[in-house]
Amino acid sequence: MGPDTPVVEVATSEPIEAAQPRPRRSRQVLVQWGACRVTVGSNAPVRIQSMTNTDTADAVATAIQVKELALAGSELVRITVNTPEAAREVPYIREQLDRMGIGVPLIGDFHYNGHRLLTEFPDCAQALSKYRINPGNVGKGDKRDVQFGQMIEAAVRWNKPVRIGVNWGSLDQELLASLMDTNSRRAQPWDTRQVMYEALVASAIDSARLAESMGMRGEQIILSCKVSSAQDLISVYRELARRCDYALHLGLTEAGMGTRGTVASTAALAILLQEGIGDTIRVSLTPQPGEARTQEVVVACEILQALGLRAFVPSVTACPGCGRTTSDTFQTLAQKIDDFLRTQMLVWRGKYPGVEALKVAVMGCIVNGPGESRHADIGISLPGSGEMPAAPVFIDGQKVMTLRGENIAAEFQAIVLNYIERRFGAVTRETAH
Ligand code: SF4
Repeated sequence: MGPDTPVVEVATSEPIEAAQPRPRRSRQVLVQWGACRVTVGSNAPVRIQSMTNTDTADAVATAIQVKELALAGSELVRITVNTPEAAREVPYIREQLDRMGIGVPLIGDFHYNGHRLLTEFPDCAQALSKYRINPGNVGKGDKRDVQFGQMIEAAVRWNKPVRIGVNWGSLDQELLASLMDTNSRRAQPWDTRQVMYEALVASAIDSARLAESMGMRGEQIILSCKVSSAQDLISVYRELARRCDYALHLGLTEAGMGTRGTVASTAALAILLQEGIGDTIRVSLTPQPGEARTQEVVVACEILQALGLRAFVPSVTACPGCGRTTSDTFQTLAQKIDDFLRTQMLVWRGKYPGVEALKVAVMGCIVNGPGESRHADIGISLPGSGEMPAAPVFIDGQKVMTLRGENIAAEFQAIVLNYIERRFGAVTRETAH
């Protein structure tokens, strides 16, 4: 060992610390429709939001899509309210959802004419559970504060919380110009991007303070500052969280399509959520042709579940497969089990409390199969190339049987179902007595 050889610590007396998200420190906001009460912030679970892409004036199509998003797991659904025709339909959308037994709170997304729509359509103002206000799009010059004030007045009158949502693409230009001006007088001017960050954060917080001065409580205000790049989002939200304790809505805007959008949102949101920043999230994906709008909800649920913040659907651990995998049997089985668990969750949610935390493993060969299967609640290790055509099944860490033959998939599915009934059905039976 020479003098420059780095010293590597091979053992320590202290246990390795388990990573876990830092607690959130925000105030709590209640978003409510009838008996459906969704708390956002403080110790409430990180909430999932989504947004429809139907024409709100088409009440039937919008109600159907809201229902789909809610059933996929969205706890709050935002709809565009952009015209008098849309505002007129909002109470009917609400009525249809109530009739279908969907209590999910609706959020109205307002830009430019929100002050008029909320004043002229009181039934719309009442049927919504929260208003989204973009301070960059409420009006220019003298009209800005007046029109913002009219929206806040409606929120106070109907006792509705608001989200003050600033967006990189519609930033208050007067505020930005004034900050640029101040910046040019600095001995060492900031980078343009840093001025933009400041404008986003200042616009959100100043608007929230203005809303409070007009009669809103801090517990009725959620803030967001949406940008479209992960690093910008992280910079802006860290500062936002440092400067205020309002509940924060988190999301990358215009994240894009498919894999790129999913990865960009996941990368940005995961870092912030781990730091305890973000009380409600939305994954803004552009649906690919033919893709369901609910995909954004699926991705949001997966992000929270992967971080261990929430559990929505039993998880299936499957190995990636490699040269040891004999066929696509294990991929097919993993897919089948995953589909089965997801589709059944609608029924199971009420029937088997706690089932969403179940862990299933489907592995391709003996290398990691038995080990990974033992770590799951229930696991199967399929035979790899050159192995005996037998698939050991593990339950709660113990090998309980071996499956052989053509019907492994169906038999394993039955074993999973039996396990769920035995373990989670017991909870229902106990509480029923
Ligand atoms: S468990 Fe086996 S089949 Fe799966 S990736 Fe590992 S070595 Fe390959």
